[in-house]
Amino acid sequence: MRWLDKIGEQPAQAPPATQIESGVEPELSDVGKDAEPESKPAEWIYPRVQRRAMGSLFEVYLAGTDREAMVAAGEEALEEVERLERQLSHYRDDSDIARMNIHAKEQWVRLEPRLYELLKHCHELSRETDGAFDITAGPLVKAWGFFKGEGRIPGDSEIAELLENIGMERILFDDQDHLVYFTAPKLEINLGAIGKGFAVDAAARTLHFFGVDHAVIHGGQSTIYALGEPPADELGTEPDVSSRIPHSSSRNSPSLDSPSMPCGWPFDIKDPRDKETILETVYLKNQALSTSGNYEQFFEVDGTRYTHIIDPRTGMPVQGVVSVSVIADTAADSDALSTAFFVMGREATEEYCRTRPNIRVIMVEETQDDFIVTKIGFGS
Ligand code: AMP
Ligand code: MG
Repeated sequence: MRWLDKIGEQPAQAPPATQIESGVEPELSDVGKDAEPESKPAEWIYPRVQRRAMGSLFEVYLAGTDREAMVAAGEEALEEVERLERQLSHYRDDSDIARMNIHAKEQWVRLEPRLYELLKHCHELSRETDGAFDITAGPLVKAWGFFKGEGRIPGDSEIAELLENIGMERILFDDQDHLVYFTAPKLEINLGAIGKGFAVDAAARTLHFFGVDHAVIHGGQSTIYALGEPPADELGTEPDVSSRIPHSSSRNSPSLDSPSMPCGWPFDIKDPRDKETILETVYLKNQALSTSGNYEQFFEVDGTRYTHIIDPRTGMPVQGVVSVSVIADTAADSDALSTAFFVMGREATEEYCRTRPNIRVIMVEETQDDFIVTKIGFGS
């Protein structure tokens, strides 16, 4: 997918505040040309708003007919992302997460209800993935030098000690009063594997609340949410989506041509080894797509690549997986599961998906002399 092209790149000169960029107006077909003025369809417009948050560039591509209303909704969505960054970041001393990480080992800490629900959901995801997804893995991530971006290889005893201090079972929850308590002194929470997805979902809900029906939102390209589908049938026009959503597929939704085919915003999932090769084109409608890759943050020692996704059961960076793309109903889930499946590998991921038909996965693994591409949920 086009989104993959830019993974790892810092967005060029991201603006300090929101910028608005209009897409080219679509060429209206003849439909409605001769109709009465009041029945003539309004023209589709495609504004875009963007803002830096969570160490990434968040962008909202909007499609509709009322520019002012759409831009205002987009701004509200980005405000929500910024609010969540202030609440969730483990890089900021004043975030709820930082406050909890300091105090929850001494006393019960009350959380804002939505944050409490997010942690409960992480707890559930951790259980479902047999501990592969673990928001307490932060101390391991730091020990491998990924917190500040300087890779290092920790010793066995250091890893063993950290493993004693992590694990979701070391967080106690009080559902009645939304309280949490850590039972291990060095435990801390890092939402790096789910926070952006959670923010993208919140942005999508905000857009929907303000009446936006068609939009694509992404947080740093690695997580995308497609709200509704490309605006086609309602106005009888067929916009060229790709010219307005730069990272989307070059193809229009097949629903424009054939009603029997799936509908939604098109995205190409590209081969991480060769960006010219498309592994799959997917059509998303009220669905999210996330990708985790071993090329995002890594360091190499003696020809071995150590990547930023750690198996919390062993304390070791995952080897042998290049990328995992996941489609799910929410961006929080696609974000969390792309990280989890990266740790779990092929067989455990297939097992996980067997009872969850809404989840689709493309996993690229590498062995000494081969690459294996596995597609789950795409039919035979
Ligand atoms: P993502 O890019 O969404 O796959 O998230 C990766 C980030 O999540 C890493 O940079 C770490 O901060 C954190 N992380 C690493 N391993 C895990 C894990 N097993 N479970 C949860 N978070 C992790
Ligand atoms: Mg993730």
